[in-house]
Amino acid sequence: MDIPETTARQIRLVVFDVDGVMTDGGIYMGAAGGGKPLELKRFNVQDGLGIKFLQAANLQVALLSGRVSESTRIRAAELGVRDVFQDAGARKIPVLQKLLDARGLDWSAVALLGDDLADLPVLRRVGLPATVADAAPEVLRVAAWQSTRRGGHGAVREFVEALLRARGEWTGLVDEYCRKRSG
Ligand SMILES: [Mg+2]
Repeated sequence: MDIPETTARQIRLVVFDVDGVMTDGGIYMGAAGGGKPLELKRFNVQDGLGIKFLQAANLQVALLSGRVSESTRIRAAELGVRDVFQDAGARKIPVLQKLLDARGLDWSAVALLGDDLADLPVLRRVGLPATVADAAPEVLRVAAWQSTRRGGHGAVREFVEALLRARGEWTGLVDEYCRKRSG
């Protein structure tokens, strides 16, 4: 699915929901030594490189989750994403409003890739509302773009490529990535 060039070029901040977008929505729950609760999530490596490409294109990246999880914090740190917001009440609008105010950005400059009802209020406001193949029907109805891949299975990477292609930046970024690794 293509993203219109004019929409793609107005984006300054790309926000990703975590569960069901960066992951397949599954959460491994168990206990570590001493019975301490342990929660693990499975992230996708191709998605991770996609996020690196957004950063290389000088786009701001944020993770916005309605669940507080150490796995999310660790993954964000690994990707160099400093704007990680985890609100247990999934109050995503006020969290994002604060970030936009701090950066002097308008909602029209934001893209959000979300999958479920917690993303719905934000998807209704942003300039580029996007979703994954296995999104909730309510989310599908407001999304302007949908991946063919499911959350946690390359949906993030597919979205990044579509956005950067629409901006005319994808091929150059791939070339630059390969050049830097060619000795
Ligand atoms: Mg979600």
